[in-house]
Amino acid sequence: MPYVIAEPCIGVKDRSCVDVCPVDCIYEADDILYIHPEECIDCGACQPVCPVEAIFESPEALPEKWAQYAQMNADLAHSPPKGQNMLPKDWAAAGGKTT
Ligand code: SF4
Ligand code: SF4
Repeated sequence: MPYVIAEPCIGVKDRSCVDVCPVDCIYEADDILYIHPEECIDCGACQPVCPVEAIFESPEALPEKWAQYAQMNADLAHSPPKGQNMLPKDWAAAGGKTT
């Protein structure tokens, strides 16, 4: 199962995870970074370097309050925002779709 980035990344975005990911599967949206679920190789390198513990080792590992972030990471990965990046609140308002 892929790793997932959740809410604590919002507004932090220091890209520490990007620097250590061996397959470059972490991408940037407007206010959060996200992991492409099919590109992640589950190596675990990103998790310990996150200063705010925003990275979880699988969708199942997410706290319930952040469970929707697994779908958000996947939706952003499959329909990356073009031009203007999408905020999580806008993603939610759009019914979980980025297009
Ligand atoms: S677990 Fe490894 S491959 Fe997956 S996002 Fe983190 S650093 Fe990248
Ligand atoms: S290391 Fe954590 S806070 Fe920094 S960009 Fe990655 S997920 Fe976001």
